[in-house]
Amino acid sequence: MAERKAPLRTCAGCRGVKEKSGLIRIVRTPEGVVRADFTGRAAGRGTYLCPQISCLETALKKGGIARSLHVTLTSEQTEKLRRELQEFEERDP
Ligand SMILES: [Zn+2]
Repeated sequence: MAERKAPLRTCAGCRGVKEKSGLIRIVRTPEGVVRADFTGRAAGRGTYLCPQISCLETALKKGGIARSLHVTLTSEQTEKLRRELQEFEERDP
C-alpha cells in the first residue's frame, strides 16, 4: 500500500494544518469522556492538537475542542486534558 501523502489535520488551537502523526488526537469516547488519545485509534469523535500546552489553552479559550467534539467540557475534563498534555510534553522521546 503506497502512501502518497500523509494525512493532514487541523489543530483545534492554532488552526495550523499539520501531518496527523505530528498531532495529538483528542477523543470523545462513546461514553462521553474527553481525553487525549495517544494511540490515535480510540473509538469516538476526535479532534487534533499540536503536542503543546499553548495550543490546548488556545483551543480551550476559543472553544475549538468543545465545538469539534460537540461537548461541553467540565473543568474536571479541562484539567485532565492539561495534565495529559503536560505529561506528553515532559516525556522525552
Ligand atoms: Zn496548534
